[in-house]
Amino acid sequence: MIDTNGYKELLEEQLAVLTIDLQELGIHNPQVKEDWIALPKDIEVTEADENIKADKVEDWMERTATVAALETDYNNIVLALAKIERDTYGMCEVCKMEIEEERLQADPSARTCMTHLGEEEDLTK
Ligand SMILES: [Zn+2]
Repeated sequence: MIDTNGYKELLEEQLAVLTIDLQELGIHNPQVKEDWIALPKDIEVTEADENIKADKVEDWMERTATVAALETDYNNIVLALAKIERDTYGMCEVCKMEIEEERLQADPSARTCMTHLGEEEDLTK
């Protein structure tokens, strides 16, 4: 059996850090719990200079990509915490076997065992 207490602490720490990062870059979608929306650095769309505008679009696209990546981590952590509550933490979502201790230590929000590592991205939420 997996001792979930240590992992829970780790996950909660990671979630706190991610929440701060996400809040700096965007806002939490009030309609969809799993969704974060990237915000432009300063909301001023009256810039006349096209170059400045292009810079801002690029900056915003970069932020959107960062938010998307952070959002995936964030949702995996929320999911892992929910699994701890449901007593299904540490179970591979593909083969339902226990995930290797080594893998969980490297990534406490891992959803698959090492064998099914490549399939994690294809899992639905
Ligand atoms: Zn597996």
